[in-house]
Order: sequence, then C-alpha cells, then structure tokens
Amino acid sequence: ILLTVFPVTGNGNDEVGKGMVWRDITKEHEVDKLKNDLISMVSHEFKTPITSIRGSVETLLREDADWEEDFKREMLTGIHEDIEHVQELVNDWLDISRIEAKAISLDKEPVQPHAIITSAIRKLPKHFASNAKIESIVDDSLPFIYGDRVRLGQVLLNLFTNAIRYNDDSPHIEISAHSDEAYVHISVADNGIGINERHLGKIFDRFYCVDNERERRLGGTGLGLTICKGIIEAHNGMIKVQSSEGIGSIFTISIPKYRSAGAEYEKI
Ligand code: ADP
Repeated sequence: ILLTVFPVTGNGNDEVGKGMVWRDITKEHEVDKLKNDLISMVSHEFKTPITSIRGSVETLLREDADWEEDFKREMLTGIHEDIEHVQELVNDWLDISRIEAKAISLDKEPVQPHAIITSAIRKLPKHFASNAKIESIVDDSLPFIYGDRVRLGQVLLNLFTNAIRYNDDSPHIEISAHSDEAYVHISVADNGIGINERHLGKIFDRFYCVDNERERRLGGTGLGLTICKGIIEAHNGMIKVQSSEGIGSIFTISIPKYRSAGAEYEKI
C-alpha cells in the first residue's frame, strides 16, 4: 500500500488540513518484479550457453582447422545441449508469464489419471532415466479427473525429472494415487536428497534454487515447480510437498474429479 499525504489549502492558500491517498500498488510491484526477473534471466542464464555456443562455433570455423570427425561431433553435441537449455528457458518463461497474467489456456476434458501417468513416464528421456527405478502402483480404476492432459502431463514429467535429478545414488520413484469426494490425489515419492525445512516454503517461488551450483550443473532453471503450481492452481487444484533431508520427498497434486452431468444431477 502506498500512502501519500498532501497539504490541503483554504481560500487564502493557508494550509487547513492534510489529505491522504491510499493506493494498492501490489499489482504494479508484481509487474516490476516480473520485468526485473526477466532482465536478470536474460543477462545471467542466457549468457553462459550463448558464450559457449559462440566459442564452439568459432573453433569449428577456424580457417586452418582440420578437425577429426569425433571432435566435430562432440562440439556439435555440446552446441545442441546449450541450444536445448536456452529453448527450455524461453518456454518456461512464456509459461510463467501466461500463468502470472492468468492467461494460461486449458483444454479441459475428462482424463483417466492412469493414462497421463503412463504417458509421462514414457516421455522421460532414456539416457536420463536409465538408472532410475520408476514404479507406478496406479491402475485404471481411479475416477476421471477434469483437466488438460498436455498440461497435467507436463506437471508430472517435471515432478519425475526432479525426483531423478535430485538424487545422489540410484533413484527410486514410486507413484501412487487415491481419490476422495472431490479430488484425485497423485503422489510422487522419491528416495533423493530431500529438502531442508527452511527451503520447503520457498521451492515453488520463481527462480528459487536450494543449491545454485548443483542446479546449474544439473541443468535446472528454478522455474519448474513455479510452473507446476500455476498449472495445478489453474485447474482449481493443489500441490503439496513433504520432505526429509537425506531421506526423500513426496510431491502430491490434487485435481478435481470429473463430474458428469448425470452425477451433478444426482447430487442435486
Ligand atoms: P529446477 O528447474 O531448478 O529443478 P524447480 O522449480 O523444479 O527448479 O525446483 C526448485 C528447487 O526445489 C530446486 O532447487 C531443488 O533443489 C528442489 N527440489 C525440487 N524437487 C526436488 C526433489 N524431488 N528432491 C529434492 N529437491 C527438490
């Protein structure tokens, strides 16, 4: 809240009192923060991959160069990874802006939770998930949820990726689900490094990283969980986390159940 106090003058220009104006500037601050975050992302996060791409391309283009095929392939693989990282940042940022502007469009339909879980598991890159044991004890007897299958798949893929990424040994992920009167709750439990209590409340914030060094090395952007939360809340759902450092974490998303017209009618 911005409070402005100004003098009120009478006929003879004498001050006869004070006036006050309250203005809620929360929204303006939010917009400023979004802009500052964008500038900081472009200047920090983009700089490293772009410098590295430039260096590799210049090496490959050196006039006197006669590089071995293997070396060229290695350089091109590095360039490809850097480009992928920049692309991920741009996509994540576009999602964040849409979420913050409440302009994320959802293509909602009745969805079987089992189907989106299986499809998200299949989307995990082979080389990334090769040493992970992923176990889903969800079957197709769960009630349908009402949501956007692409966006919900994106949330699950993100949770699975984090469960594998933040693990020092052999990742073991267990996916379970249950339903109650209004929601289907899907939990993703891992045996990873866990999250210290003092970070727990902040991990859904934009760019929040528990350990910057580690994340940079592992290719995180600090935007993943912010996007997950935004997508789940746009579904009128909830996302929660429980974690013990050194033991593991459990992320649970709760999505409203699909109620057919018949079911609604019966309820009335
Ligand atoms: P990033 O894209 O960097 O992974 P996220 O928004 O997905 O960012 O996660 C934010 C922070 O939460 C990360 O810094 C990471 O340390 C922590 N985190 C997320 N998921 C897990 C998990 N399953 N186990 C341990 N730490 C996690």
